[in-house]
Amino acid sequence: IKGRGKNGYLQFTPEMHSGHSLRITLESDLRLALESGGDQFELHYQPQVSHRDARTVGMEALIRWHHPRLGLMAPDTFIPLAEETGMIVALGEWVLERALSQFADWREKGFTGLQLAVNLSPKEFDRADLPERLLRRLEAHAVPPDALDVEITENLLMKDAEKNIDMVKQLRNSGLRISIDDFGTRYSSLNYLRRFPINSIKIDQSFVRDLNAGNSNSTSIIHAISCIARSFGLRILAEGVETEAQRQLLSGLACDDMQGYLFSQPLPAAEFEAFLTSSAFP
Ligand code: C2E
Ligand code: CA
Ligand code: CA
Ligand code: CA
Repeated sequence: IKGRGKNGYLQFTPEMHSGHSLRITLESDLRLALESGGDQFELHYQPQVSHRDARTVGMEALIRWHHPRLGLMAPDTFIPLAEETGMIVALGEWVLERALSQFADWREKGFTGLQLAVNLSPKEFDRADLPERLLRRLEAHAVPPDALDVEITENLLMKDAEKNIDMVKQLRNSGLRISIDDFGTRYSSLNYLRRFPINSIKIDQSFVRDLNAGNSNSTSIIHAISCIARSFGLRILAEGVETEAQRQLLSGLACDDMQGYLFSQPLPAAEFEAFLTSSAFP
């Protein structure tokens, strides 16, 4: 196996992805991990903060896998595999259950008024019973639907539009919130804004990364994106904010909320709770 990245996560190279034996091992290990109740998985939570007063307004749940032999695995190493094999549906169920029970626990401890964001793969979105399943879980944890923010990607809104528009409408009618993740990385971003009743867009971190006083291209793109989103009444969240300079530029570009290492890395539940406590939660 190749080396570990700077953060200690296993890093994959394209050759390794096509390497049959590793792939087969990972596939059966992932299946086992799911069948054995999900103890090898863990959710980390990254705060989303308001640009005005740096108050935490919510968190995104991000999955990690503690592989018994390979160690800590970042989602990019196994989410694509889970999608190809269909295991993403069971994995998504695990994520939702764990995230909601943790979120409900925080609400009971007084951390109210927050939004919980979860990532949804196209395969999960394709299931006709998605709204019922989400609502059932929300109810089981006494979490109001408008506290759950479902993150989907643009490509989902581009293919098979009618069916997906219908699904988005059903979810919105159920009271859930919908965000478009990695916004701006596909080309037809504008037409679907007109047709889908979404709540927010997450400006992709690639734009934010290039954002500095010297790069007027990124500034123009983010400015254009936020003007459009604003005119549709959408909440704008910038992802991957790492520096104070980026934060200031983004505030000037009318971003409502931000997420990134400048505020916090994704944290294990206990550390995230400490973060909430220490960031003078109102
Ligand atoms: P994403 O949804 O776009 O999540 C944002 C990624 O950016 C996360 O990577 C996060 O750790 C990272 N990030 C946050 N702030 C910064 C920053 O300031 N700088 C930089 N360079 N990166 C930052 P992570 O956790 O490795 O997740 C990667 C992707 O895996 C996610 O991208 C998402 O597409 C997918 N994923 C993660 N958890 C789940 C899950 O539970 N279900 C599904 N379907 N996909 C998931
Ligand atoms: Ca996301
Ligand atoms: Ca993203
Ligand atoms: Ca992404």
